[in-house]
Amino acid sequence: MAPPPPRATFQTKFFFAALSASILALAVAGAFFATTMRQQIDARIEATLVAEARMAAEMLTRGAPLLSVPEINAEAGRIGQLIGARVTFIAPDGRVVGDSAESLEGLAVVENHAQRPEVIEARAQDLGHARRYSATVKMDMLYVAVAVTHPAIAFVRLALPLTDVRQQLQPVLTATLTALSVALLGGAAIAWIFSARIGKRVRLIAGIAEQYRRGDLTPPRLGFGDDDLGTVARALDDSVQEVGRRLSEQARDRARMEAILAGMVEGVIVVDPQARLQLVNDAARQMLKLDEGHRGIGRPYIETIRLPAIAELVAGVMGGRKPDALQFSPPRDPSRTIMATAAPAAGAVAHGVILVLHDITALRRVDQIRRDFVANVSHELRTPLTAIRGYVEALSEDDTNEDDRRKFLAIIARHTQRMERLVKDLLRLAQLDAGQETLDVIGCDSHNLLETVVADLLPSAVERRQRIEVTIAPGAETVRADPEKLHDALRNLVANAITYAPEQSTIHIRAQRLNGNMTMTVADEGPGIPDDDLSRVFERFYRVDKSRARDPGGTGLGLAIVKHLIELHGGMVRAENGPDGGARFTITIPSPAE
Ligand code: ADP
Repeated sequence: MAPPPPRATFQTKFFFAALSASILALAVAGAFFATTMRQQIDARIEATLVAEARMAAEMLTRGAPLLSVPEINAEAGRIGQLIGARVTFIAPDGRVVGDSAESLEGLAVVENHAQRPEVIEARAQDLGHARRYSATVKMDMLYVAVAVTHPAIAFVRLALPLTDVRQQLQPVLTATLTALSVALLGGAAIAWIFSARIGKRVRLIAGIAEQYRRGDLTPPRLGFGDDDLGTVARALDDSVQEVGRRLSEQARDRARMEAILAGMVEGVIVVDPQARLQLVNDAARQMLKLDEGHRGIGRPYIETIRLPAIAELVAGVMGGRKPDALQFSPPRDPSRTIMATAAPAAGAVAHGVILVLHDITALRRVDQIRRDFVANVSHELRTPLTAIRGYVEALSEDDTNEDDRRKFLAIIARHTQRMERLVKDLLRLAQLDAGQETLDVIGCDSHNLLETVVADLLPSAVERRQRIEVTIAPGAETVRADPEKLHDALRNLVANAITYAPEQSTIHIRAQRLNGNMTMTVADEGPGIPDDDLSRVFERFYRVDKSRARDPGGTGLGLAIVKHLIELHGGMVRAENGPDGGARFTITIPSPAE
């Protein structure tokens, strides 16, 4: 989400701050200047008035002695004209004896001036001044009075209207204001230029910050400048870039770790010191059949993994022990066996627990198969060996007659052959298991192949007065296979049919092509195979009739070898019962038409 646009930009703020500062500075300077100027001009005007008053006094002292009031008044008018100010002559008793602004008649009614502040001051200090409203001339006036040595006049007073003083000040004030306005305009222009420049840089930095916020850490192409702003921006930029580098390093490490964990066959579970689930890899989820939706990361592990074995291991490690590996079957998949080991987690999740799960189901099965196999082999070998030993002992007795001896030797020979067959089959299976038999695929003539199989077994079939019928469907004349191995497989199936089907029955061998595959079926008219055993007859040593009451002399390995040989061709073999009874074995091998 983009931040809301700032209400006042940095540039406007900066501009107004600079403008306010210059207005304030100029206003203070202007006020100070105007006041100083006014005071100075005021002081100068007053000083001039004082000088003029003294001069008037001097003129009175030096001039011809004036004694009559009309003379004095006329002199006041003359001096007043010379100086350009109102001139008043005041007698020692305060009477006005001459005034440049009054006629003789007017003088008579002028108030006594003895109590005027400037007169009181002049009487005390030779010089007095005052500013006030004059009732005589009806305006604000500046008064200056000096004492004078004259027979009829004690004080000369000069008065100047204050408007005159202000008029003298006006041009100064106007010039000051004009200068201040120009200075203000200049200040505003400079403030604007600087604020625009700095605002542009601030916007550039803000733009880069926004780009970083969006997660795009591409370094900016423009510099930040050499001043403090640039230094701060550069320092922040460097830190962001550094943080970005560390984040991407972390992301890479994490991705690598996740790839390793995801690719592991072993299940990995990490629990933190507070017994909360930190990590469960896919293998562990599959092994324990955990729900995909409910991941439970960050929650107590017991909510997700409710297995006593795991709880025991976690508690063991958290209690500072080194618990042994445990084996258990997950309740949701009891057919599997899982081995779990636990160790304390080092590093980031200190004192947590790492659990590693191994699915040992296949290992256990292989182990079981190996044990069964060894037991079966021992059992299969013991039977003929026991018989042979018994008959050898019987033979070594002196009282056996010739007939018995011959009979015993025949039995020994049969058991020896049986052992030979067993050992031969075992060796063949071992070779097939070890991948030592290579496939030599060629295009074989189906007719030839099946004829040799039949020819091989014909004596046994004849002995049991059975018929073997071979049908080769059109299109199935040739098959791509290793002829020797396919021969061995078919021979096994037909030999079984001869063995298990009753006398005088017919064995059907049929070859046909179906969907690019060659299928060869061997069907007999025997008892068939019980449905429950159909899927198991290809197991090693598996016999339907376990009692061996009617021992057909088989090793129990024939069909296992057939399965191996056909799978070597990339094909498959299946057993079923025909619709009218009788076992039916079907070999299917991929064999595209030539
Ligand atoms: P064996 O050497 O005992 O024949 P096989 O592996 O060839 O061993 O056969 C396994 C078992 O399958 C036999 O013991 C038998 O019970 C059953 N079987 C095989 N072929 C037939 C068949 N054509 N009819 C009935 N049962 C059969």
